[in-house]
Amino acid sequence: ATPTAIMVGTGKGAELGILIKSGEALEVFHKTNVVVLDKTGTITKGVPELTDIVTTNIYDEMQILQIAASIEAKSEHPIAKAIVDKASQKGIKLKETTAFKNVVGHGIEAIIDEKTILIGNKRLMEKYEIKLGQTLKITDELASAGKTPMYLAIDKTLSGIIAVSDPIKPSSVNAIKQLKAQGLRVVMLTGDNEITAKAISNQVGITEYVAEVLPEDKKDEVEKLQIEGNIVAMVGDGINDAPALAIADVGVAIGSGTDVAIESADIVLMKSDLNDVALAIDLSNKTIKNIK
Ligand code: ADP
Ligand code: MG
Repeated sequence: ATPTAIMVGTGKGAELGILIKSGEALEVFHKTNVVVLDKTGTITKGVPELTDIVTTNIYDEMQILQIAASIEAKSEHPIAKAIVDKASQKGIKLKETTAFKNVVGHGIEAIIDEKTILIGNKRLMEKYEIKLGQTLKITDELASAGKTPMYLAIDKTLSGIIAVSDPIKPSSVNAIKQLKAQGLRVVMLTGDNEITAKAISNQVGITEYVAEVLPEDKKDEVEKLQIEGNIVAMVGDGINDAPALAIADVGVAIGSGTDVAIESADIVLMKSDLNDVALAIDLSNKTIKNIK
């Protein structure tokens, strides 16, 4: 495309709330055949709410919530906020927490009242050899409903299950339909567990997903697709997504996302609307065609 065509396209994008940071992205976008979408905050609202507390031994629901919130108060994860908010709504006073440790992609650990507390996914429990027994049935059921279940262990004994729900954005269904209508292969990428990932992808009409991806591995998933010969666009919002956005042929950040994601992307969706991905591809098409 000529510099003039790029300028026109970029200007048109700006009018639509699509910030195009590099002219090259506009030239490449129409060649894309795979769109990778991050789940949390991209397909979903990214603002989870606590929905379930299940107790599995001597602790009651309020105690489980108090312990969980006391530790999560030190975490920056969106899941943490959901738990802390619920405790605050219930007027629960937080306990003193020491030795806080974030186990990336797994959960957290800390000490309360001289007891070791673990909160996180199945992988975290496996790492510490916590027996899950019959509770797997409960967590599978929660996950099938699209919720994210987490285990809470106190001194190596499973003591509770907490689930959060992060609803999909109403616009996601249509946005994904449009991308498919454009002939694109759509893949969802998430750190969340397999069953929840399946439920959410189902809700939005995505058949291909990769679950339980560690934050540092998202980039590798994009690279894998590129090595297979695909031209890959990555859409994301989180700090975790930044390396994947940077390596993708076209990196697209959600405007309401983190600064790091926005900095790493070629295109920013100022309205934070996934429908604008299809619109941006259209724009790229028109930019190229106009100036042949
Ligand atoms: P994503 O944000 O895509 O879900 P993460 O790698 O941040 O991916 O988290 C993966 C999983 O690790 C979460 O779904 C959750 O089960 C667990 N986890 C991460 N952080 C926390 C936390 N602060 N408290 C409890 N569980 C957590
Ligand atoms: Mg995200």
